[in-house]
Amino acid sequence: MLQLIRPMERLGQLYRALKQSFADLEQLLQLLEETPEVGDRPGAVELPPGRGAIAFEHVGFGYGKGRGTLEEIDFAVPPGAKVALVGPTGAGKSTVARLLFRFYDPQAGRIVVDGRDIRDVTQASLRAAIAVVPQDTVLFNDTIGYNIGFGRPGAGQAEIEAAARAAELHDFIAALPDGYATLVGERGLKLSGGEKQRVAIARAVLKNPRIFILDEATSALDSATEKAVQENLARVCRGTTTLVIAHRLSTVVDADIILVLEGGRIVEQGDHATLLRRGGLYATLWRRQAETPGTGEVDEGVETNE
Ligand code: ADP
Repeated sequence: MLQLIRPMERLGQLYRALKQSFADLEQLLQLLEETPEVGDRPGAVELPPGRGAIAFEHVGFGYGKGRGTLEEIDFAVPPGAKVALVGPTGAGKSTVARLLFRFYDPQAGRIVVDGRDIRDVTQASLRAAIAVVPQDTVLFNDTIGYNIGFGRPGAGQAEIEAAARAAELHDFIAALPDGYATLVGERGLKLSGGEKQRVAIARAVLKNPRIFILDEATSALDSATEKAVQENLARVCRGTTTLVIAHRLSTVVDADIILVLEGGRIVEQGDHATLLRRGGLYATLWRRQAETPGTGEVDEGVETNE
C-alpha cells in the first residue's frame, strides 16, 4: 500500500507545483490525456544498444486534424554531436523535441534512434535513454537528495552525490546543516533559479542518458549565473548526443548542426560558419543579436521582420 501512496503523494505535489503556473498545468493535463495515444506497440522491443544517433526522416506532424505544425523535417545527428534548434517562437522547435521523446507520433515520415523507428521500441526504454533538462524545474517537497534521485529511481547515495558533483551542486549541499537530507520546496529551503537548474542537471546526469534534450531558459537567471550553468551543462553534455532548443548565441555557435526552423519547416541547416556565409535567416538573427547585446535571444523579434 505504501508503494502506492508514495507515488500518489508525489503526483499531488507535482500537481500543486504546476498549478502555480497555468501554462504548465495545461501541459500536464494535455500530457495525461495524450500520452495513452502513444502506447507500446504489440511486440515493442527494448531500444537496442547504441550511442544516441538520431534521424528525422521526412517527418510531418500536426496537433490537430489538417493543421501542419511540422513539415518535411529531415536531419541526422551522429552519436555525440550537438544539434541546436533555432527560429522564431512558434516555429516548431519544442514540437521536434516532444516528438523525439515520443509524446506524440508523427503523421508522416519516421524518427529513428540508434537504427530503430521509435514507434517500435518500448516507451520505457526510449525515455530511459533520454534526459530532459527543462526551462523550469519542479521541486518536490522532500529532501534535496530525493529531488536529485528522482532522475533515476533506485539510484544509490553515491550515485546521487556523483551526479551532484557533476552539476557543481555538491559543495553547496555539503555545506547545508542537513546536507542531502535538507528539505526543499514550498515548505523547505527555497532554492535560487541557478540552484534549481543545477538540480535539473544533476537529475539528468544521474540518468546517464545517450541523448540530452535541453530546453534553454529564456530568462529567470541573471547573466553570471546563466553563464555558469551553461558552462556546466556544456561540460556535462560533451560527448553525448545533445538536442538543444536554443535561445542564446553562445550555445548555438559551437553546435555541430544548427537547424533553423520557420513555420514548421527547416529553412536552413549547417554549422555556424556555413550559415553565416549563406547570408539567410540565421545570418539575420545572428546580426540582430550581436547588435543588441543583453537581449540574449536568438529568436527575438523575428516575426515582425518581413
Ligand atoms: P517553438 O518551440 O518554436 O516556439 P512550438 O513547437 O512550441 O514552437 O509550437 C509550434 C506550433 O504548434 C505553434 O503554432 C504552437 O501554437 C502549436 N502548438 C504547440 N503546442 C501545441 C499543443 N499542445 N496543441 C496545439 N498546438 C500546439
